[in-house]
Amino acid sequence: MARRFVTAVMRHETNTFSPVPTPVADFGRVGPTDGPARGKDALRVYRDTNNPVAAFIDLAAAQDAELVFAIAANAHPSAPAPDDILDLCCGAILDAIRPGCDGLFLDLHGAMVTQGHDDGEGELLRRIRSAAPDLPIAVALDFHTNLSAAMVDNATVITGYRTYPHIDMYETGARAGRTLIRALDGNATPVMVWHSLPMLTHMNRHAPSMPPMREMYAKAIAAEESGAVLNASIFGCFPLADIPHVGLSAIVVADGALNEGAEEGERLLYDILREGWERRDEFVFAVEPVADSIRRARELKDRPVLLIDHGDNTGSGGNTDVMTVLAEVVEQGLEDVCAGPFCDPDSVARMIDSGVGARLTIQLGGKIDMPAMGLEGEPLEVTGIVRRITDGQFTVTGPMFTGVAMNIGRCAVLDTGRIEILVSEGRYEPFDTGAFTHAGIDPARKQFVLLKSRQHFRAGFEPLARHIVMVSGPGTCTSDYSLFPWRNIRRPVYPLDPDTQSNLPTQS
Ligand SMILES: [Zn+2]
Repeated sequence: MARRFVTAVMRHETNTFSPVPTPVADFGRVGPTDGPARGKDALRVYRDTNNPVAAFIDLAAAQDAELVFAIAANAHPSAPAPDDILDLCCGAILDAIRPGCDGLFLDLHGAMVTQGHDDGEGELLRRIRSAAPDLPIAVALDFHTNLSAAMVDNATVITGYRTYPHIDMYETGARAGRTLIRALDGNATPVMVWHSLPMLTHMNRHAPSMPPMREMYAKAIAAEESGAVLNASIFGCFPLADIPHVGLSAIVVADGALNEGAEEGERLLYDILREGWERRDEFVFAVEPVADSIRRARELKDRPVLLIDHGDNTGSGGNTDVMTVLAEVVEQGLEDVCAGPFCDPDSVARMIDSGVGARLTIQLGGKIDMPAMGLEGEPLEVTGIVRRITDGQFTVTGPMFTGVAMNIGRCAVLDTGRIEILVSEGRYEPFDTGAFTHAGIDPARKQFVLLKSRQHFRAGFEPLARHIVMVSGPGTCTSDYSLFPWRNIRRPVYPLDPDTQSNLPTQS
């Protein structure tokens, strides 16, 4: 008899310092207000895309198994989510597995905080496990997971993305799914060992493409490829979360059927994390004053120069309307610039009302206060000509989320003569050039490209960039972690407490 599988997506990267609300309506992949998708609608959105769940869909098809897509809830990073979304996802998954289920494949983030639970994924898995104690569960997680005991204790197989920007989402789903199917076929007995270090890594310093994560991941991949373990994943952590279990972690799925399977897994786990701990200073990012970064950029002559305004990155829960970096670009008189997208629905409406060709002065951005950071929004007065108005819809052609139809809300371009400013109704981290090209701006031909992004811009923009200047502006994604009002994080934690001791077992 054909197997019956269930799959679901629940993704939210929660910045507990963010003022950006997270209503249930925002958990729709295709637009800002569609809400979670179900069944065939969810299938239509995710099939043949670069997402873990797309691999689950393909694996089920290859098995001639029935697949029920219970729910797809996926919101942009922002403030803690309502408990309703957790209840909704949990209810849909439990309904789907009730008639009988041979395996559950979950595409989760790993850093979701709800108003009532500081570990959203752990709570989801705990509820599923208590309803279905023997159900095999495979989970694919984002690289920015804050791994917890509740997640590990209530899943069968866990794997994570090993790229940042995340361009291996499909492959991660395939790894998790293949291991679970191997177990279902009786060809492996997954046993998971994991550990979380008392340390925060900086998001500009922890990508698997750069040291020391590169060397750590090389060990994980080598062990997996040699067959010594089934899977090995390292999570850089999502540091903008004031929760107890935030921190760099790793998990190894060993084969308990093998002699020394679990011991082999532990050896690898501690070998990887020992290297991370010993090189912890390499995960710290040096903050440069905004004016110094822009001055440095101004001297660069090859085009384009990317200016990365990463302190206010929606991809990490930023407002996307902090104007400090753009104000400095104006102040220092940079020319031939495109910038954005800034989220400011009021300014978009004003530009649309005025129409293409109109000249106007607007108070751009700065509409949102950041009480957790003790910051008030400050608009920037800019004058220019409305160059273009769009519906904000484009299809991703770059390597991240390839093929996904984006809708970033209506957009308008204000041209100040020196700067073409892209303003959108929705928040969007520019990982794909489509945000600009669909609005008639070719970033490859600009001298300066100011992007509200931290790392994901690399997917679409790094190939065309001659220089990249990281600009550490203020916001809820600030690079200076000492500015966050920490209350719930476990202390001591490195680098907030430089003398933090390792919690790794001593070497025997
Ligand atoms: Zn991530």
